[in-house]
Amino acid sequence: SRGENGQRLSYQELESIFLETPSSELAEKWLYYYTSGPHLAGKNLSQAEWTRDKWEEWGISSEIVSYDTYINYPVDHSLSLLREVGGDGNAKSWEVAFKASLEEDVLEDDPTTGLEDRIPTFHGYSASGNVTASFVYVNYGTYQDYQDLVDAGIQLEGKIAIAKYGGIFRGLKVKRAQELGVIGVLIYSDPGDDGEYTIANGYDSYPNGPARHPNSVQRGSVEFLSVSPGDPTTPGWPSKPDAPRAPPHNAIPSIPSIPISYTDALPILKALNGHGPKGTDLNKYWGINNGLGYEGVEYFVGPSPDDVVLNLYNDQEYVTTPQWDVIGIVNGTIPNEVIIVGNHRDAWIAGGASDPNSGSAVINEVIRSVGKALDAGWKPLRTIIFASWDGEEYGLIGSTEWVEEYLPWIQDASVAYINLDVAVSGDVFHGGATPTLHKLLRDSVAKVLSPNQTIEGQTIGDLWDGVIPPLGSGSDFTAFQDYAGVPALDIGFKANPKSPVYHYHSNYDSFHWMSILGDPGFKYHKAVSQLLGLIVANLVDSIVIPLQATAYADALDKYLDGIETQLGSTAEPVTEAEIFVHRAKESAGPVQGSSDAFKDSLLAIREAIEGLRISASRLDDLSAWINQQLEEGIPWWNFIKKARVALAVLSANKKYKLLERNLLFEGGLDGRPWFKHVVYAPGLWTGYSGAVFPGLTESIDADDYISGLKWAQIIKKAIDRTSRSLL
Ligand code: GLU
Ligand code: CA
Ligand code: ZN
Ligand code: ZN
Repeated sequence: SRGENGQRLSYQELESIFLETPSSELAEKWLYYYTSGPHLAGKNLSQAEWTRDKWEEWGISSEIVSYDTYINYPVDHSLSLLREVGGDGNAKSWEVAFKASLEEDVLEDDPTTGLEDRIPTFHGYSASGNVTASFVYVNYGTYQDYQDLVDAGIQLEGKIAIAKYGGIFRGLKVKRAQELGVIGVLIYSDPGDDGEYTIANGYDSYPNGPARHPNSVQRGSVEFLSVSPGDPTTPGWPSKPDAPRAPPHNAIPSIPSIPISYTDALPILKALNGHGPKGTDLNKYWGINNGLGYEGVEYFVGPSPDDVVLNLYNDQEYVTTPQWDVIGIVNGTIPNEVIIVGNHRDAWIAGGASDPNSGSAVINEVIRSVGKALDAGWKPLRTIIFASWDGEEYGLIGSTEWVEEYLPWIQDASVAYINLDVAVSGDVFHGGATPTLHKLLRDSVAKVLSPNQTIEGQTIGDLWDGVIPPLGSGSDFTAFQDYAGVPALDIGFKANPKSPVYHYHSNYDSFHWMSILGDPGFKYHKAVSQLLGLIVANLVDSIVIPLQATAYADALDKYLDGIETQLGSTAEPVTEAEIFVHRAKESAGPVQGSSDAFKDSLLAIREAIEGLRISASRLDDLSAWINQQLEEGIPWWNFIKKARVALAVLSANKKYKLLERNLLFEGGLDGRPWFKHVVYAPGLWTGYSGAVFPGLTESIDADDYISGLKWAQIIKKAIDRTSRSLL
């Protein structure tokens, strides 16, 4: 890269541009734009065009890519609690004891809550239906929650379930309900999960205080995302206009569901008081959050008596309609090495200040920084692709379809995918990543000042717990990591139990909320922009790709430890996975016999990881050697050394770039072949949080040693292949 005066723009100069360009004022301005109109998937063309035009204005060549996708839009809905009155003989007569509003209040202080064309409360991919039945409270609706009900003999078949949000991806609450014969699902936001700031604790609610607005509703997709994300009619291929279509029913519910506020849930939950057992009698873990106790809810599970029923009516229109990704390109000078940076643009609501527009505002600031650097004469080594995805909310559609369309090129050229979604919803830094990106993340957070300066000079890293969880799912990194085998990173500042309540997927996730409670002064927006800028600059312009291979060996060892601890543990099982392992161990007969074989196969994985550690350190050592040569400088006349270093760079970069691809298994996971990574997948029954060695853990969970052995083999082979690729 050469500056205007013909000098190479030093890495320090480049870093300064990325640290100095982002501005709180402009982030606020972009956020204001993105939050001032509806931008549901497939309904946001004007925002796609605006985004493209802005990126062009900042010097990044950009275009709109469109897909024809199968999605639903809400038509009508209602929810009533009915009581039987004075039935004479067989003729039942019912009165409406309560009719849910299913609306969020319009707030005078918060203009976007009152937009004419605001989006009704509904679930993406929910089924239409009109059902009347007695109902059961199912806690969070996790697999284990339903199992506790089944074990207690509570009838679920033919009932309507009411679940609270939290713990797992909402679509999986509906999936398990459907499997158990439930005919409709309500999901509500219980303030017991809101942390410190609740009305029960004496706080006022938004907009007058930090507690949850009692009418807030969490919209959201109920696609079965742990089966496959993307357009459910095109799993594994892009939704182009002439694409063949599969029936979607594997991946979306067949029973109706709607999201409701706790205000609407109150009369329904109270109607269960005294009916059936209490949740806490079924399982001690049900009692942790007694969020509506102050309102008189006792959290009985029911079912409601036959003369108290719910009528749930849900009308959804299904269409195949265009969605628009904006793709911006900055060409690098090295062929076939690409960094992809993306964030979704669609939201459920007019606002979407945190989700996703804090991310959209930040990406804009980073693109503006890139533009500044280009103006200063920067010639990036690697190509950068910026993406503004559509349809993330329905099921990661824009990113998944794009990855499916360009898979061969993405697998040939991608170095890393960096994701932003909710860039700011609170003040606690969070970063999830594939192991090879851990070091870059740690190095980068140490270079950006924290907006919260309790001690002068404090960096984001100083205030971070340093935990980097594996990426599960629930955002656009999924297709990159789990389907294409591209290392991925996801960053942002999240709310914590002591933050003002973040109204996720509600009209109150608005510009007004962000300005007074989420990020007054937009300092966190600026900090994420600086951090993302540094990460991009580093990935793009380091001569040796700044991935670290040994980190993979460390992570794999840790994951295997986890499995062995589970298998060897005599402690009382707590998590679902532990319970399954416990059961597997207790089994007698042939299973016991194969248990030794199983342990041997885990040992073989351990050895494979050792092999990986050796070849990975060789590669990381080579990278350190190259960097040292470059730092010291090679005398102009030492052509032999120059050639040696150049060849080493070519070889190291190719290995770093392709490392992750070796961890894919073409056949995919059992029962969900779209997921191809042998180390990472969304948890089958969690969705958001990730499973590690999913094939293996799922076999253990299913008490199936034969497939456990199969997966141990597949994993060992993948790790061996990875080691060889680094030699
Ligand atoms: N991020 C969205 C959500 O959590 C979409 C997740 C998905 O469908 O994968 O609702
Ligand atoms: Ca597809
Ligand atoms: Zn989002
Ligand atoms: Zn979202």
